[in-house]
Amino acid sequence: MAFSPLVDELVESLRCLPGVGQKTAQRMAFHLLERGRSGGSRLSEALGKAMTGVRRCDRCQNFADTDLCGICENPQRTNGTICVVESPSDLLAIEQAGDYRGGYFVLMGHLSPIDGVGPEEIGIERLLDRIQQEGVSELILATNPTVEGEATAHYIADRLDGRGILITRLAHGIPVGGELGYVDGFTLTHAFRGRKPLSD
Ligand SMILES: [Zn+2]
Repeated sequence: MAFSPLVDELVESLRCLPGVGQKTAQRMAFHLLERGRSGGSRLSEALGKAMTGVRRCDRCQNFADTDLCGICENPQRTNGTICVVESPSDLLAIEQAGDYRGGYFVLMGHLSPIDGVGPEEIGIERLLDRIQQEGVSELILATNPTVEGEATAHYIADRLDGRGILITRLAHGIPVGGELGYVDGFTLTHAFRGRKPLSD
């Protein structure tokens, strides 16, 4: 490379996106410069605003522009049920399946001691505080059916042992090792309706 430091910088910056290597980054940069200037300007403005303006919801840790996310702002969604997911894309998949009308808690990850991710990093204490404050009757553990997702679900269930809260886990159709964000809405709806109490 080296015909323009600005182009080099654009290509390098694009490489922060997942799955984007040098070639793809170059293709994207050239596309924007050759044929997509208005889209590129819009992208740059949206990126700038989102990177400084998007924060975590005080109640559920989901992405939000203000103290509370859109779901937590809706009083009808505070109905004694919290669904725990690993990521905003899992939350979105459940929302798009359309069946669930309770609240959420977004861990933004899962327990992974080897990577230094413990209960503190994914907000478990915050979740437990909220459960206490809101008088939650059912906690749906919709972490992914991976080793880490299962371990996280069991850790949360153990911490709530003896508190008289119904703890359920999605049951059918979610492929083991898969991620909720990639499961179709029909399967997810069935998994939700068929959720079962979690037992060790
Ligand atoms: Zn929220």
